[in-house]
Formats: sequence, C-alpha cells, structure tokens
Amino acid sequence: MTPRFPVWPRHNFNTRIKPAMTIHASHEPDNALTGMLPEDIAETLQQPLMRGRQIFQWLQKKRVLSLKEMTDLPAALRGSLDAGVGVSALTVAARQFSEQSGTVKVLFALRDGETIETVLLRHGDRATFCLSSQVGCALGCAFCATGLAGFRRHLSVAEIVEQALHLCDEAHLPPNQTPNIVFMGMGEPFQNYDAVLKSIQILMHPQGMHIGARKITVSTVGDVAGIRRFAEEPWQVRLSVSLHAATDALRDKLTPLNRRYPLETLHKALRYYQQKRDRQLTIEYTLLANENDAPSDAVALAAYLRGLDAVVNIIPWNVVLELPFTPSPPRRVNAFVAALQGAGVKATVRKERGGDINAACGQLRAARAADEREQV
Ligand code: SF4
Repeated sequence: MTPRFPVWPRHNFNTRIKPAMTIHASHEPDNALTGMLPEDIAETLQQPLMRGRQIFQWLQKKRVLSLKEMTDLPAALRGSLDAGVGVSALTVAARQFSEQSGTVKVLFALRDGETIETVLLRHGDRATFCLSSQVGCALGCAFCATGLAGFRRHLSVAEIVEQALHLCDEAHLPPNQTPNIVFMGMGEPFQNYDAVLKSIQILMHPQGMHIGARKITVSTVGDVAGIRRFAEEPWQVRLSVSLHAATDALRDKLTPLNRRYPLETLHKALRYYQQKRDRQLTIEYTLLANENDAPSDAVALAAYLRGLDAVVNIIPWNVVLELPFTPSPPRRVNAFVAALQGAGVKATVRKERGGDINAACGQLRAARAADEREQV
C-alpha cells in the first residue's frame, strides 16, 4: 500500500532520530498534576496549600515528574500518591533533529493513543517552543498538513504544559533562562480556550517555569470570539493572527474560518483588542506561489492593516506532498516584501527552519500514522 504521507525517517537523510525517552505516564490526562495550579493540587490531594506548592515546584520548576523522586515529601504521602493520582500525561514517541538548523521536532504519544507534535526552534542561545493545543484541527486551512487529518480532540491543560516541560529538558536550558512560547502547533488555540488559558497561567507561575507574559504568543487563524475574550485577559501575552490573504474571496478559499468571521469582522475585533491591550500584533502570512504572493496581494494586505499597529511575518511554506501548492520562489518573496515595505508596512521573512525534517506541523504525525497503517 502506498502511504499518503512521506514515511520517515527513510526520506530524511539529514535527520537523526533519537530513541524515545520514557517518562512516568499515568492515569487520566485531564487529572494529571502537571495541569494543575498549587491550589488545585492541594485540593485534589486533600493536602494543605503548602504541600500543593511543594509538589507544583517539583513538577514545574525542577521538572521532576515522578512522585517517588520528590524527596522532601513524607514517604507515606509519596506511596499513596503514586497509587492513586496521575502525574503526567505524555510520553515521547519519536524525535527528529534538523542538522541544518538545530530544530527538534518531538512526537508525543497521549494516554489514549493519539499523537501530537511540538517543535523546539533555536536562534543562537535562545529557544522557542511551538506548542500544540489540539489533536488535529477542525478548521481545514487549505495549505495545512494538520488540517488534512481533521479534528480528534482538545488537549488537556497537562498535555499542553508538559510539551513545554519536555522541551526545557530537550533544549538544556540553564535555570535562569526561560524559553519563548508560541501556540502555533497543531490546532486553533482559541477553540480550546480554557485549557490554553490555564496552561499559560501555569507556564507564567512564579513558583514554576516563570515565563514572562511577553515571551508567550498565542496565534489564531482569526477566531473572533477568542480574540475578543483574549482582549479581556489581564496580561501582556502577545497575539498573532495568521491572515494569509487580505481579500475575502481568497481568504475563504485558504482559511475557511473566514466564512464565519470575514475580514471586516476580524478587523473590528483586532481594533478592539488593541484598544483594550495596546499591544502590537504580529500578522503571519504564508506565501504560496501564484496564490497569494502577487504584489497586488501585498498592496491589499497593506490596505487591510491600516488602523492597526502590526508587523508582518512572512512564512515560507513547507511543502506537503498531498497539497496542490508550491512555495513562492525567492524573487516573488522579495517583490512581495518590497511592495509591503513600499506601502509603509514593517515586514520580515521568517528564516526557513527544519525543511529537512518535515517541518510543516502535522507531517510527522501523519507520517507516523501512515507507517502504522502499512504495518497492519
Ligand atoms: S493552519 Fe492552524 S487553524 Fe488552520 S488547519 Fe492548520 S492547525 Fe488548524
């Protein structure tokens, strides 16, 4: 049988697959302690708040995911906890490492057999973690490998937070260094709003990873209800919008959520967000050859951004063999950027990273599923 997706690792000659690391997975993912604040842990374990804080620090600061190793807990408590309470929700199923860029893509297995992807990007000594918020995605953007497979379920808080905990180990971050976090992996974060919100509270918690709000970005494809809700949150977490087109006809085709929230509705929500939060937006724009990369598309984008404080991040498209698109060639990318800049819009082109490891989100998961189908 021919797989629908490229099979790894045979097609990734520059890719090193490391053996999967085993961690302590357990019980119900929704109930895992890694998805709880100190007060939740105390309540769940029927312990004083002080004990909840102690366990939270072990999990989120020291990244110890086994209760047996929490040496300052009373032995009787450690034994009873291991017997009855889930600590963590993920195990590492596979890794791909890009020799070109140092990017690491991790495939996590969830307790119910589903899988998700998380990516570690490096820029010098800084690290950015690209987290998933759902298993699959319901929104079906035309150029997206994740969207091809459809929606399976939302991730729990623990499943989101643990992606970051694992990548801290993967990145060998020193204790005084925190990563950047982008919710730009599998799924639309605002469709899983409550879990994403709570995971951010845990990531920012001073007794845990203590990641600054400005180092966290939530990326939406234009979920207006989520944007309006996000505008009310009392923090400086950043917002990024994946636009990809600046006319409704083209955006309807590339990003079907536009049929529900057309560009004018989205613009109003973004103005509202900026009135409330006074934060600069990032606009993500994936360039597809002869689809959305003409200078006239850039002019339309510049016109759309009037009235918003925004910078544009141009994203080179990572090839997905099953999809009928090709990346824009460099001369079209340059002409697009020049047209934007000529119209007074700040724009940068994101450096292509991890093209040698199926970097488009959802590809590793799809390839793994195809491998498993072949083995049946
Ligand atoms: S681009 Fe994002 S929102 Fe669109 S289908 Fe893919 S994961 Fe979903």
